[in-house]
Amino acid sequence: MERTVVVVGGGFGGTLVAKSLDAEADVTLIDPREAFVNAAASLRALTRPDWAPHAFFPYDTLLAHGRVLRDRAVSVDPAGVTLASGGRVEAEFLVLATGSGYPYPAKPNPASTSVARQLDDLRATHKELAGAGRVLILGAGPVGLELAGEITEVWPDKRVVIVDRNAQLLPGFLPEVRDELRHHLAELGIEVRLGTGLTGLPQVEPGRAGRFAATTDQGDEIVADIWFRAHGVRVDTGYLADGRLTTLTEQATVPVTERLTVPGHEHVYAIGDIVALADPKMASYAMTQAEVVVRNIRAQLAGEQPDTVHVVTPDRRILLPLGTRTGVGQLPTPDGVAAATPQTVQERKGADLFTARFADRFNQP
Ligand SMILES: Cc1cc2nc3c(=O)[nH]c(=O)nc-3n(C[C@H](O)[C@H](O)[C@H](O)COP(=O)(O)OP(=O)(O)OC[C@H]3O[C@@H](n4cnc5c(N)ncnc54)[C@H](O)[C@@H]3O)c2cc1C
Repeated sequence: MERTVVVVGGGFGGTLVAKSLDAEADVTLIDPREAFVNAAASLRALTRPDWAPHAFFPYDTLLAHGRVLRDRAVSVDPAGVTLASGGRVEAEFLVLATGSGYPYPAKPNPASTSVARQLDDLRATHKELAGAGRVLILGAGPVGLELAGEITEVWPDKRVVIVDRNAQLLPGFLPEVRDELRHHLAELGIEVRLGTGLTGLPQVEPGRAGRFAATTDQGDEIVADIWFRAHGVRVDTGYLADGRLTTLTEQATVPVTERLTVPGHEHVYAIGDIVALADPKMASYAMTQAEVVVRNIRAQLAGEQPDTVHVVTPDRRILLPLGTRTGVGQLPTPDGVAAATPQTVQERKGADLFTARFADRFNQP
């Protein structure tokens, strides 16, 4: 009988595990969405509605043998998964990869699980944004910065201000990367106010047009016509809160061993944004972890010792495009991390935001 692998969560890590093991096991992927959402593309999907469909990859082309269940896990125990629909999926191997939510539009509204609904959301917000002369973004992390870059590329005349309580842009990255970022932001006319926050949130909902005045805790007034929240990652592990599989950490993340198993369960793995590792909450790390899990499950399927370990690297990597033409980055080299040229950032991410890579994963032309 074929061995069963159940992957919970079809994001960056989960789809890689499911596809990699599809030929060797009976794979079931569980996700409430109709399609994989390439979060890296979601900000351009907002500013360019004609391009927006490129951010979605329907699950039905991912697996040649296995199946995708459009459902949500509500509980997991060592033997399988209980679904929101009331169903149950038993599994020999389980991989938890439910990732995280992020305020819309960086990640979809949780209630919008179909592609049509997500495209409708993006079109509606695009309309609100199109008429706004001044834009306020709360959060100067990669998401806020990329959003500012996409907005100024489509509407160079909009005035974009980013506010962040951190005193530094991209803390933990090389000083030359931060210097270059400041230079590009100045060139694009994007204003960044660091080391300060708002005394209260704007009275208008995020992503809705409506003029407001906000005051920073340094006493400055910012008048804008729309604002976006660009902070607040929330790990999706609520279905584990019943403790039937493991005890979550205080941060609601999943503890894992160096082989990425959930402690005490040799056949249950966890990867990506949900794991309690020092790796940054980024897709590239989720995919590196996915490869470790694939190797270990393959070994177990072959009756061998699963001995691939995941090594957390202190090196920080990033590709941060500011629209299609420019951006900054930091990448590993044999001599440690180094700044990436704008051309590398453009070629490796900015031009298509990984669309070609995921077209390949989803067997699309
Ligand atoms: C705007 C933006 C740009 C980004 N750009 C980059 C980038 O350039 N490079 C990079 O490395 N990282 C980037 N990231 C971070 C990256 O998106 C996350 O780190 C990544 O999504 C984490 O992958 P994951 O596999 O852990 O889970 P996710 O990709 O978050 O996928 C989780 C999946 O699980 C599903 N799910 C959730 N709960 C359940 C449940 N109970 N049952 C079943 N399924 C469930 C969800 O529907 C989702 O499909 C970006 C993030 C944002 C917001």
